[in-house]
Amino acid sequence: METLEWMKARLPEFLKDLEAFVRRESPSGDKEGLEAAAAFLEEAFGPLRGRLSRKDTPLGPVLLLKRDGRGEPVLVLCHYDTVHPKGSFPEAFRLARDRAVGPGVYDMKGGIVALLYALRHAEATGRELPALEVLFTPDEEVGSKESRPLIEAAARKARAALVLEPPTPEGDLKVARKGVGLYRLKAQGKAAHQGVEPERGVNAVLELAHQILRVGALEDREKGTTLGPNVLRGGTASNVVAEEAWVEIDLRAWTREEVGRVEEALRALKPVLPGARLEVSGGLNRPTMEPTPESLALFEKARAIGEALGLSLRPGRVGGGSDGNFTAALGVPTLDGLGLYGGDAHQRSEYVVVSEIPRRAALLAELLHAL
Ligand SMILES: [Zn+2]
Repeated sequence: METLEWMKARLPEFLKDLEAFVRRESPSGDKEGLEAAAAFLEEAFGPLRGRLSRKDTPLGPVLLLKRDGRGEPVLVLCHYDTVHPKGSFPEAFRLARDRAVGPGVYDMKGGIVALLYALRHAEATGRELPALEVLFTPDEEVGSKESRPLIEAAARKARAALVLEPPTPEGDLKVARKGVGLYRLKAQGKAAHQGVEPERGVNAVLELAHQILRVGALEDREKGTTLGPNVLRGGTASNVVAEEAWVEIDLRAWTREEVGRVEEALRALKPVLPGARLEVSGGLNRPTMEPTPESLALFEKARAIGEALGLSLRPGRVGGGSDGNFTAALGVPTLDGLGLYGGDAHQRSEYVVVSEIPRRAALLAELLHAL
């Protein structure tokens, strides 16, 4: 395929851009690093067709590239923050055998550079693309607090959303992601002297111990619903009947229905000890991304293009959330995993497979063209 040949011919140049971008290490929350990475994006995408604008947020700049084209806009989601504190890798960028290794090279700076080449390809060949809105965000790895409203506002006008997170470890695209919730269950008891008059107290730690087993029992492994009561605190001193105790619970589920079932059950928990009270707070921070006929049709388009490129892509499902969860929850057909092929996400050995770069970049270029 012609596009594939074009990408292959530009692989050395692609690697230079990828290296320059990855070397500007940009862990979430690192103002200076994020600023430097945003400057790379401005230099790279600024000269392309369209208008690049910038909005500063407390978590770093959000960049928006708007490009005119056919029909309602297609939203492209990219985050340029990474999970790695600066200097985590022995070298910020390294080519070894068929791998490029570096912080964020796979999640997801590689996907962003693939988009750069997909757009350069469209300009070089004069190909028509749909209208595009590309968001480059600085806070995905810490929950997208600042970016979420901007993503949702752009999604409301979009006919589709493409997410440039990496594919699954098997190389598949992502059509489903679990919803992610964080809840706090607090037991309120009553303090008393443990030696003098313990009978006047209500032990919150004991109360919570009863409840934690009930929380665990809400899990449904068959349906993929998991509950992790992973952080636990309570009491003040060993000679004081514990007045307060709480547990933080991580919930993951594939469907809204399951989230609803668990939330309802958490709120219905009844205290076991006389005089104890329970409080549940928190909620979903990423809604479920469930496949729809429209998102599967989008996947099917990508699958057919992949086939022509020699890729056999399947509709993947993953437990972790992304910004695609927000767009899918608004009913926008969402396809995720369109970044580069590689592995070891969030590890200090994170890499992309160099020889697979042209095919993934061509897949993105062709998919944009086909929409
Ligand atoms: Zn990511």
